[in-house]
Amino acid sequence: MAVEYLCKVCRGHLNVKTSIILAAAKLSDRKHRGLIYLNPELGNYTATTHPSFHINEGEEYIYTCPICGAQLNSMKYLHLVRILMKDDEGKEFNIYFSGIAGEKCTYKIRGNKIEAKTGPDLKIYDKYFEVPDQDRKYL
Ligand SMILES: [Zn+2]
Repeated sequence: MAVEYLCKVCRGHLNVKTSIILAAAKLSDRKHRGLIYLNPELGNYTATTHPSFHINEGEEYIYTCPICGAQLNSMKYLHLVRILMKDDEGKEFNIYFSGIAGEKCTYKIRGNKIEAKTGPDLKIYDKYFEVPDQDRKYL
């Protein structure tokens, strides 16, 4: 069984062939929207869109599930987007990546534990996930 990526709301499969397919709209101008194909390999930030839909670096995008239309941007962690990953053993993880175009950081999280993180821009968001051990019992 391969690694699968799922919508956090409808649990529909977001990966088709070799891409994760999401709908995206520019936060500052929602008419500027289209489909975006992301590389499913953690740490690979290659993104493909139709030539009519240009992604502007530094702009924030709202990502939605192309199946159910739910917003995937995190309500809890500002500027991050969350989807689910199911690994080849059926274990589930939260995958967070930046909704701001050009920011490269990815977190793979299970429960409160960071299983993997990658990207040069992690330092921007590490504060979200670095919880002192003595405070964990309150989460
Ligand atoms: Zn969905």
